[in-house]
Amino acid sequence: MRVLIKGAGVAGLTAALELVRRGVDVEVCDLADQPGRGASWFAGGMLAPWCERESADEAVLTSGQQALNWWEEATPGLVKRNGTLVVAPARDKAELSRFASRTSGYRWVDEEEIAALEPDIAGRFRTGLFFEEEGHLDPRLALAALYERLVSMGAVFHLGGDGVPQTSVDCVVDCTGSAQTGTLAGLRGVRGEMLYLRTGDVTLSRPVRLLHPRIPLYIVPREAGLFMVGATMIETDEAGPITVRSMMELLNAAYALHPAFGEAQIIETGTGIRPAFADNLPRISEKDGTLFINGAYRHGFLLSPAMARQAADIITCKEVSHENSRQRARA
Ligand SMILES: Cc1cc2nc3c(=O)[nH]c(=O)nc-3n(C[C@H](O)[C@H](O)[C@H](O)COP(=O)(O)OP(=O)(O)OC[C@H]3O[C@@H](n4cnc5c(N)ncnc54)[C@H](O)[C@@H]3O)c2cc1C
Repeated sequence: MRVLIKGAGVAGLTAALELVRRGVDVEVCDLADQPGRGASWFAGGMLAPWCERESADEAVLTSGQQALNWWEEATPGLVKRNGTLVVAPARDKAELSRFASRTSGYRWVDEEEIAALEPDIAGRFRTGLFFEEEGHLDPRLALAALYERLVSMGAVFHLGGDGVPQTSVDCVVDCTGSAQTGTLAGLRGVRGEMLYLRTGDVTLSRPVRLLHPRIPLYIVPREAGLFMVGATMIETDEAGPITVRSMMELLNAAYALHPAFGEAQIIETGTGIRPAFADNLPRISEKDGTLFINGAYRHGFLLSPAMARQAADIITCKEVSHENSRQRARA
């Protein structure tokens, strides 16, 4: 069986791996000349199902829990299981209680424990929530590793062309994310702006979320001295450069977490368009013979493993039932 996957973002690459593992011949095409250059390029890479439950459906928690093991197995050495720390400035302490009331899988931590977890922010926050089971990865490294693995397992990539190779295939899977806005019923874009900061003066071991009544933000450590700060959530599919307001809010969050970020270098700014349906849950749907995996919203890394498994089951079960009908017809 041969399957063509359109789109080499996190949805496409995870689906490709699940299909290759089931013995399917996979081709992947993308308009970009490198894999993972859509919304996936700008992601924080937080694998945080318990924290995300604060504003997401229970399905995000249940499906998201398998993501940590999936990524650890698929991209060995890239998942960091150091948990998530959630803090708020003293004036926004009510935000912490609200966050706690909407989530599970955490414990309250005091100033001393915050200092033990993240020595560089010692003394800056009196209380916080620690989600010990959560993890994170660097999306750019993880998708590059997935790509290399797929190539070594025989998947064929067509990158940077007009997108569609002229091979005959049994099934087409569309994972083109926000490119389907306006075509796939109900899909919308949610703009997310982020930036990368570099400083040798701060070290963090895990994502730190800073709660705020208007705009909750987070900082995710990458390689030594590099930090991703994210992310805005704006209801538009306008993909232009980061705005001054968003940049100020992201920088304010970094500065509130540690004043040394005031001296950091701004290495990169970026905007990704998250594909989302009305319920903000991903969906597998079929239209005109194509299977669509879309709508990962702010959970592409968290939920793609579950979506990929589900899609691979659908595709391979269909093939088995087609093969059974062919055998019955021959008999
Ligand atoms: C700032 C930000 C932070 C985020 N943080 C997190 C996080 O911490 N954790 C998490 O789980 N999720 C996070 N997300 C969400 C996550 O990034 C998205 O859910 C995910 O990237 C969507 O993946 P996708 O593969 O559906 O789309 P994309 O990554 O956009 O991939 C779609 C691909 O399709 C290609 N394409 C488009 N048209 C065609 C065509 N006609 N033919 C072939 N290819 C085509 C594009 O070039 C692209 O490579 C974040 C998102 C943003 C923007």
